[in-house]
Amino acid sequence: MHQEYCLAGARLVDPLLSRDEIGDLAIRDGKIVAAEALSDAAIRLDLRGKVVAPGFLDLHVHLREPGQTHKEDIVTATRAAAAGGFTTVLAMPNTAPAIDSPEAFREFNSRLPGRAVIEVLQSVALTLGRKGEQVTDIKALKAAGVTTLTDDGSTPQDEKIMRKAMLLAKSCNLPVIDHCEDLSLSKPGVMHAGKISQKLGLPGQPRLAEERIVERDIRLCRETGCRIHLQHLSSGGSVQLLRQARKEGLPVSGEVTPHHLFLTDQAIEKFGTNAKMAPPLREETDRQMLIEALCDGTICAIATDHAPHAPDEKAQSMLQAPFGIIGLEAVVPLCLTLLYHQGLISLPELIARFSSGPRAVLGLPPATLTPGATANLTILDPDHEYLLDTAKFHSKSLNCPWQGIPCKGSVQGVFYQGQCLL
Ligand SMILES: [Zn+2]
Repeated sequence: MHQEYCLAGARLVDPLLSRDEIGDLAIRDGKIVAAEALSDAAIRLDLRGKVVAPGFLDLHVHLREPGQTHKEDIVTATRAAAAGGFTTVLAMPNTAPAIDSPEAFREFNSRLPGRAVIEVLQSVALTLGRKGEQVTDIKALKAAGVTTLTDDGSTPQDEKIMRKAMLLAKSCNLPVIDHCEDLSLSKPGVMHAGKISQKLGLPGQPRLAEERIVERDIRLCRETGCRIHLQHLSSGGSVQLLRQARKEGLPVSGEVTPHHLFLTDQAIEKFGTNAKMAPPLREETDRQMLIEALCDGTICAIATDHAPHAPDEKAQSMLQAPFGIIGLEAVVPLCLTLLYHQGLISLPELIARFSSGPRAVLGLPPATLTPGATANLTILDPDHEYLLDTAKFHSKSLNCPWQGIPCKGSVQGVFYQGQCLL
């Protein structure tokens, strides 16, 4: 028997229905119900001044399980996700070993019950071992219940292999999620190729390393009709290619991370390896174009690319340290502070980039606050002022440059299937 709740006096924001009003929301048996349906046993939560939104989805999370649980695991990652405002995460398959078969997919899913506190969707590799050589058995994956394919961490470098994968994905009606990086241009770069990399004497990655694959895969999308989603866009040129493709009506979408929205390559000088990520942080012009594309809807999703690494791994030199930072518990406060309160985006639009936008990428039923819907909800306090404290994070790893950032706007918690995780 589920607990019943009345979320009283909240600002209810449902981008799908263009709904934005003060009201009560009733929860019973894991679903949103009409207020009259509640019994006297319902717990009444006073949420005046708070925002209730459809549950957020992060399209880009590294759970590090199996194989790298010294960095993160299903328990710590999903607790971090819930604390960060997410009720669903899409897990990347670049684990050790890579999740590239129906058996590995089933084995992963068997780890979730009793450990994951929110919904985890596991994506599966496009090519065996993510080596870019042999396409996985996409028909068998579809039959096993797989909903998303990606080689994240890289992408097939051979266009012939990518084309074959996209044709098969299209025939199974599965989207391909794409880490756009031409390794012949990016290796051995550890940061953006520009003035700062020259100053620091570090090998750089040009924008072209990303843009060439964005251009290639939009072309393949046009030819095959396969839906593609471009991950963690970093370059202004990629944004222009995405905008053009969407104008043309191609089934292409894109995401942006908080670090590419709020940092440039200058952050390397201050934060060192905690600003080393793939793709790299670029320049102010790129950052402005990413913000513009997010706000006008060209980019439909904010995704964290939550990439935990142990302290000794990130303590290595810029050349040696692994790429990536964590983001699950920082992204919503950062976006409320630096986008919403800066007047760059409205609250309903920002919420859409965390809910309806990413759900559409995966072809999931839209999240809504309508009676009958599953009670997956994100609760925000949009005016809460504080300093972000990574010591309070639930993640097993703390690699990020966000410690002590002044924030306005916090996550109060989530409801997952009607259960309160505040
Ligand atoms: Zn990636």
